[in-house]
Amino acid sequence: MYVVVAIDVYEAEQRIIDVFMNQSISEIKPVLDKVQVIRYPLVEDALGLPSIEVVNILNQLCELGSFQRKLYIRVAVCPKCSIIDPLLISISCPNCSSINVFRKVFVKHVKCGYEGLEESFSEGSCPKCGFKYSRSREFIRRTVFECSDCGKQFKTPSVVYTCKNCFTSSSISSLSFMDVYSYSISRQSFLKITLIYRIKDFLNSLGYEVKAPSYVEGVSGLKHRFDIYGFKQNNSSKLLANVYVSDKPIGEQVIMNVFAVGFDIYPLQSTIIAIPGLSESARQFSITLKANVIEALNIEQALEKLKNFINQGFKQ
Ligand SMILES: [Zn+2]
Ligand SMILES: [Zn+2]
Ligand SMILES: [Zn+2]
Repeated sequence: MYVVVAIDVYEAEQRIIDVFMNQSISEIKPVLDKVQVIRYPLVEDALGLPSIEVVNILNQLCELGSFQRKLYIRVAVCPKCSIIDPLLISISCPNCSSINVFRKVFVKHVKCGYEGLEESFSEGSCPKCGFKYSRSREFIRRTVFECSDCGKQFKTPSVVYTCKNCFTSSSISSLSFMDVYSYSISRQSFLKITLIYRIKDFLNSLGYEVKAPSYVEGVSGLKHRFDIYGFKQNNSSKLLANVYVSDKPIGEQVIMNVFAVGFDIYPLQSTIIAIPGLSESARQFSITLKANVIEALNIEQALEKLKNFINQGFKQ
């Protein structure tokens, strides 16, 4: 009846949070590996999955609100093969597309008004008035590009990006771009996982075996997920619980969901552990539906109340 799935997104979440905690980091940043793929090696190691799947899981966890992502870099990629190989950059003439384009630097001496190519200052002074040449505000530098074929001058040449993989050439406007993110943990997820760990230790100390998370198949055939499933080998005692942590009181939807699941897994009963507690309407609901609820303002209080709850012999 009890089925544990090898790896699901919630298990991945806990393993990634372990990475945050063990490495004492608040953000997981991408790195570019030798074959120019964006990777998150710490997470790949923790999950034993390739980079593509790791990125999928990280983004899924952002949608679920466990993690927050921040744009780290928006990289140009080949529009044809989407590979982040460094694109070869070359320039061409915006008028005739010739690649025979070169750069010229003009220098103007403000005081005497002389302007000429930088080479004309090679003696170290202004060729007109002899003033000592320096990279200062006395001299204004201007860069232009010139096409050897059509003779046109322009401020910026056309820039061509060539893919080293498929040799497709693109302009800046025809390139594709890929968003690469860094990931950080939300405060709520951190509290939730910390509480689950603490409950696990506590139940272990009372002689329970604990699976976190665990899955219970209902009468309907649906598998329901629980954050904690503690049980004693002799089957004398079972605790199924879900932990909810939010920055505002937990709403009645949670109670309704738990009630619906309760029908499906009967005669098993689950417990709701809610930080910072339930909303007024959710509380009324929980009383009407006789739901097992532990409301607490913080982790310590939740553990204290869980102790009392177990000592009083909770409903199973
Ligand atoms: Zn030209
Ligand atoms: Zn001069
Ligand atoms: Zn390409």
